[in-house]
Amino acid sequence: MTIKISDYEPIVGRNVIEELELLADQVAGKVIQHVNSTSLGGGVAELLNRIVPLSKELGIDNRWDQITGDEKFFTITKNIHNSLHGAALELTEEDIDFFLETNRKNTEKISWTGDVFYIHDPQPIALIEKQKDIGGNWIWRCHVDFSAPFQSTWEFLKRFIIRYDAAVFSAPAYARNLAIPQALISPSIDPLSDKNRELTQEEISEVFQRFRLDPGRPTLTQISRFDYLKDPFGVVKVYQMVKKYVDCQLILAGGGAVDDPEGELVYRQVLEQTSDDPDIHVLLLPPSSNIEINAFQSGSTVILQKSLREGFGLTVAEGLWKAKPVVASAVGGIPRQIVHRFSGILTHTIEGTAYWVRQILQSPEYAAYLGKNGKEYIRQRFLITRHIRDYLLLILSLSHPGEDIINL
Ligand code: UDP
Repeated sequence: MTIKISDYEPIVGRNVIEELELLADQVAGKVIQHVNSTSLGGGVAELLNRIVPLSKELGIDNRWDQITGDEKFFTITKNIHNSLHGAALELTEEDIDFFLETNRKNTEKISWTGDVFYIHDPQPIALIEKQKDIGGNWIWRCHVDFSAPFQSTWEFLKRFIIRYDAAVFSAPAYARNLAIPQALISPSIDPLSDKNRELTQEEISEVFQRFRLDPGRPTLTQISRFDYLKDPFGVVKVYQMVKKYVDCQLILAGGGAVDDPEGELVYRQVLEQTSDDPDIHVLLLPPSSNIEINAFQSGSTVILQKSLREGFGLTVAEGLWKAKPVVASAVGGIPRQIVHRFSGILTHTIEGTAYWVRQILQSPEYAAYLGKNGKEYIRQRFLITRHIRDYLLLILSLSHPGEDIINL
């Protein structure tokens, strides 16, 4: 079923829709081309899967391409990703050559039809080479936590970033000292997607039954790719500490992503470590398990996101939108989504996380208070309508260089 922009009106109000239509009229005629490294798995694919069709619905001609690469390329880019999150992983000359060569091949493969190019994250960053042939406005959209990058990786990426017309980061802490304009645009969730729409009790029960989950027991859930930075082992420890006091079950569910070669190893390690506890459900999900993820979140008592690093953490917004109490690490973009003890709980340690989960399990009224505030917080700041508005404003500002005021 095609979603229309007016379908969002009951959620965000008429003014928001009118403003979007006005901005879309101004941008009409321009072709926007997004490029990233995977169509499935992870937050960027999740975002683009929603933003591209909804922008089309607004009359904006936009398309989405993915670069391709082999396992060696994605191992190098995962190292880049981990080193942006602080790991001391030095790129070798050979890595750099391979990275650049894969980008160059993709420059030839992609059919370039845009006027505005949104290049997402480091994997395709060197595609900027193409600008000298085809012109256009080029925007580097960074979804990664950039607050403390490993210096040599940062220096390598900076060579490319400064050639873009603008860079977009997800949080103020990620802004860098750069000679190009920078915009801060938070990611978003789509309240009408299968991942986030309101499910019926029957839909939730069907999923719980299918995965042999006990609907009558308190449920702690973390949805994430199997990645060390999502700290699945920490989540298991939290659950074990809570379990001493409250009889509960744990869902650790997630899949892989084409551009994340580490996932399978982490999944197997988690499975091995938890095999002796039938109340820990480690679920490897196929791509597009949207209704299943929605049901796990909607049927949970507490949602966890115990990441060690996090660009934004869409799963936090997803949990809050379901009016659930979310207990999450105070890292990356997560504190932008949670006001501690008002719209969720921010923690720093395994012990602290276990403490708060117990508090919430023992106080359903407090859980409901956090969930209600959390949902409203997301409605005001992190829905897709706000996100598209920010993108359109950025495009407008780039197409009026030097003007302080743009008349709409
Ligand atoms: N997700 C999914 N299937 C999975 C694991 C995650 O669809 O098996 C989704 C999740 O619901 C969220 C996104 O992928 O929408 C993950 O985004 P986030 O920002 O939380 O983390 P990232 O994977 O980008 O580090």
